[in-house]
Amino acid sequence: MITESILTIFFNMKLTLQIQLLPDVAIAQKLKATIERFNEAANWLAPKAYERKLANKFALQKLYYKDLRHLFGLSAQMAIRCIAQVVEAYKRDKSVQPSFRKHASIPYDQRLYSFKGIDRVSLLTLEGRVLVPMLMGNYQREQFGYAKGQADLVLRKDGKWFLLVSVDVPDGTPIPTTDFIGVDLGTTNLAVTDDGETFSGDTVENVRQKMHDLKKSLQQKASALVKQGKRPKNVRRKLSLLSGRESRFRRNTNHIISKRIVEKAKDTGKAIALEDLEGIRKSQKRFRKPQRAKMSGWSFFQLRTFIEYKAKRAGIRIEPVDPKYTSQTCAECGHCEKSNRQTQASFLCKVCGHKDHADRNAARNIRAKALCQQA
Ligand SMILES: [Zn+2]
Repeated sequence: MITESILTIFFNMKLTLQIQLLPDVAIAQKLKATIERFNEAANWLAPKAYERKLANKFALQKLYYKDLRHLFGLSAQMAIRCIAQVVEAYKRDKSVQPSFRKHASIPYDQRLYSFKGIDRVSLLTLEGRVLVPMLMGNYQREQFGYAKGQADLVLRKDGKWFLLVSVDVPDGTPIPTTDFIGVDLGTTNLAVTDDGETFSGDTVENVRQKMHDLKKSLQQKASALVKQGKRPKNVRRKLSLLSGRESRFRRNTNHIISKRIVEKAKDTGKAIALEDLEGIRKSQKRFRKPQRAKMSGWSFFQLRTFIEYKAKRAGIRIEPVDPKYTSQTCAECGHCEKSNRQTQASFLCKVCGHKDHADRNAARNIRAKALCQQA
């Protein structure tokens, strides 16, 4: 008789639940004051961490915890969170002094907030705790049971309040995604995601150029041989071997990129927003050099196809969006103007001064469009 032992492993999936808060005017004032004070404190602390090259929470705590409490009136736990926030930002890029927007979102941990039932949350402010009603959809209610750990309090530019809460969902739970990875497909960069991950086309273009040159010289050799009355048998064979190599290289590159993007979607519990096929068709017309355009357009389409079928296999939804204006619109303020896009690579908003890599800005717009389509 055979005994079977079954080992079950659970992988947890991290998701973020976006819960809208509905504070009345008085409570909103308190939340706003807290956010502003927290960011003031972070901006006060950041240069100190930067100048002393301190990326250690405990070292900073020892030096500045008391000041944070006395100068800014932060609660003990908020002072700790503020230090952690500065350290995280500094660690992300040690070459620049971190700075925080006046209304940048601030972290709430379980000592700073707690849910009261399924429709209210208690949040600590500078003036003590406040109870805030929450607005939740059905999906959010379903996932709510898993909500735990750190949350972020967000004041959006349109004045709406949100609490973004981390959620651990056991694997196997079907997940209706509420967010997207925006992907901008191109030629200089083959793909750029809205968080700035970039898959450069340099290597592919180098290989194409090299193959192109090689092919040209072989063809010249062949015709020289023909002129001499000889049969260019060897040269012909080399040429036919060459023809498959470039496309195999592209194919392989596209496989790697698409795999990475789909994995990223899986890891973050997001769907993928891509420009629609019509957009890809149109963008082929934009290219000038005919040879390159032909290859790029085809490779473009291949990459999109690969992302699509790998996503399908992983149970991840693809949301096609119309790419119109995504390269000229500011992802920060929404201003749309052709000259916002300064060059192929750089984006600078004429209205708000937002500066970014042009492809990343476009990827953010693609994500935003997908979010709108879904709403
Ligand atoms: Zn702008």
